[in-house]
This record gives sequence, structure tokens and C-alpha cells, in this order.
Amino acid sequence: MTTVATVRLRAGKERSLRRRHPWVFSGAVDHVDSAVADGDTVRVAAADGSFLGWGAYSSASQIRVRMWSFDERDHIDADFIAARVVAAASRRTSLHPETDAMRLVFAESDLLPGVIVDRYDSVAVLELTSAGADRWRDAIADACASLDGIATVFERSDADVRQREGLPMRTGTLRGGEPADRIEVREGSLRFLVDVRAGHKTGFYLDQRESRRVLSRYTASTRVLNVFAYTGAFSVVAWESGATAVTSIDSSAPALSIAAENLRLNGFADTHLVVADAFTELRKRRDRGEQFDVVILDPPKLVGSKQQIERGARAYKDLNWLALRLLVPGGTLVTFSCSGGIAPDLFQKIVADAAVDAEREVQILERLDQATDHPVLLSVPETHYLKGLVCRVL
Ligand code: SAH
Repeated sequence: MTTVATVRLRAGKERSLRRRHPWVFSGAVDHVDSAVADGDTVRVAAADGSFLGWGAYSSASQIRVRMWSFDERDHIDADFIAARVVAAASRRTSLHPETDAMRLVFAESDLLPGVIVDRYDSVAVLELTSAGADRWRDAIADACASLDGIATVFERSDADVRQREGLPMRTGTLRGGEPADRIEVREGSLRFLVDVRAGHKTGFYLDQRESRRVLSRYTASTRVLNVFAYTGAFSVVAWESGATAVTSIDSSAPALSIAAENLRLNGFADTHLVVADAFTELRKRRDRGEQFDVVILDPPKLVGSKQQIERGARAYKDLNWLALRLLVPGGTLVTFSCSGGIAPDLFQKIVADAAVDAEREVQILERLDQATDHPVLLSVPETHYLKGLVCRVL
């Protein structure tokens, strides 16, 4: 039996853990009482020695410990981790009958820090972003393979955040046969192709499922500009709901080539796919006096850390300002931010500033959020990252 090291916190640093926030920052640690390797389970104790929880240690990360449990009776082993994976997946079984593509495990929100599992038809794609998650790769892969309907478990642990954890990039098949180059998934009456090997994140923006549904109410008989289109999910929705023209802009040629496949797959061939930098392209189109009825802005995360908030806010404002200038009176702006560092009220303020500069009056019609398979855990507000606004320009 190996001994479990205890991470003793400095006085007062136990407060967030008592509120079940699962991160112990390096500055909160007073000392560790014995040798510990990255990914090892440690006992976390307050300055007075009282038990706070079990977590995974990571020497390279600013977040020195990520908690697995706040219950002293828990034993963190393969069965414990596997049970959490299975529980997270089973919470989703009846959530979205209209689709076979869904996030099954959403990290902290499902009490599994650093663990993401997305399902595309019979393929489970695993993304591990912390040392603790990495330690339990086999248990997580086995649990995924045991789920109803899963034939392949594929790993896409190649997000930048792994570097901050001192972890190498890892991709490849963990269980079952090789996944197809394109996995076809359905969402209602629509079909989408997903490239789990080279696509962004695990391949598809599952978090925008609800926004896709909402968008379809605004695009009948409209000219749509879909900016940051990726594989064209919003473009397909726009065509499906009766748009008369759809232009999709993205800087990634491979993404837009899948967008072309997605449009064809759903029976829409005639579309404009533009490989370009969005900022430059929007300026060019504004200068040409182009006009659209609907503009969608879904940029990548423009704010990664607190230090980037100001610069990121300027970029969001610039984009929204350009979009507003491209819209006809009565037009619709559907605008998103997936930066956790930009809170919803700040995002609203940024769009408001853009409206002032664009000299347009703008109404908010709807607020959009990450889909329900990406739940926000109340004790971890950081799990809320995606917000959007459907605006009408007067
Ligand atoms: N709306 C998409 C997801 C967008 S993700 C969907 O629902 O599927 C953000 C996209 O922005 C990525 O496809 C990325 O290639 C693209 N991107 C990043 N920087 C860009 C830039 N400067 N100009 C244009 N596209 C960019």
C-alpha cells in the first residue's frame, strides 16, 4: 500500500474548497508532506490539518491540485473514475433524442476535472487536459468503451493547455477500430460530417446546438453572412430554414472544405465559401457597401487570460462594429463570445459600445448559452464560457 501525500494549505486558503470549488492554486499550498508525482492522488488538508478532499497533484500547473472528491470515505481508483464517467454519460441519455452527437463528460461540471468526452455516433473522443486526467486514461477509455453504442475510443489530447500542465500531446485510437475520416452525425433533420482526427477541439462545436436551433427562426428569406463558419454548421441551418444566400468566412481552408461537404450532404450546393481573415474581409465588404439581413459572429476564444481582456474586448468590439455596419435596418446580428474571461454583462457592454460607434440602435431579442450537455456547475462559475446575443438592428 503506497502512502498518500498530504497537501497542507496556508491559513484561510481552504475557503474556496469548503465551497466545493475544485482548484488549489500553487500560492495556496503551504507544504506537501511526502514525495508526490504528477497525477498522484493527494489528501488536501486545511492549515489546522482537517480534511478537505482528495485531488490530483500537478507540479507544472498553476492549479497545483484539482479535486476529485470532498468526501473522506471516497477511494480514488479506476472504479471511482469509471463510475463518474458512466454517471455523466447516463445523465445525458434522454437529453437530446434528436442527435447522436453530444458531450458526454464536461470536465469540472461533471466532477471530472480535465476530462472531456464527446460522442459522435459510435465514436467517443477523449480530451484529457490535466495530469490527474492523464493518470486515469485507461480507466476513462474503458468506461467509454463500455457505454451503449460506442465502438471506438479515440484520443485528442492535443490542446495547448496540456503544455501548461507539462503533458505531451497525444492523439490516436485507444479502444476499438480506427475512426472513419469523416463521421456522419445527425441533428434533427440535418447531417454533419466530423473529422475527429484533425478537426478543432474534438471535431465539432456541440456547444452551439441550441444556438443552431434558435438561428433557424431568423434566417427565412434572408441573405446571411456566417463569419467564423468552421465546418459550416450555421450555414447549413440557414439554408435549411430558407435563406436566399449564405456566405461563409473562415481562415481555415480545411474547415471550409468540410463545410462544402456538409452543404452538399444536406442538399445545398450553391454557396459562397471564403477563406480569409475575418477582420480584413469584413472591412473589405463594408468598404464595398455590401449589405446582409443576418450576420453571425462566432469567433474563436479571443481572451485566454486576464491580461488579454482589454485587447480581446477591443477585438470583439471591432468585429461587432463591422457586423453592424454590414446589416440592413431590421437586420439580425447573432453574436457570440466563447471566452470565459468575458462575462455576459461585459459582452453586452462591448456590443453596446459597438452599436454606439456604428451609430445604430440595437435591441436584444434573445440570449444564448452553451448547450445543456455543457452544464454550468454552480460551484465552478468558470464552467460558464459561451454566451451569445440575438440582436435586432433598428
Ligand atoms: N461557428 C462555428 C465555430 C467557430 S470556431 C460552428 O458553429 O461550427 C472559430 C472559427 O474561427 C474556426 O473555424 C477558426 O478557423 C476560425 N478563425 C480563427 N481566426 C480567424 C480569423 N482571424 N479569421 C477568420 N476565421 C478565423
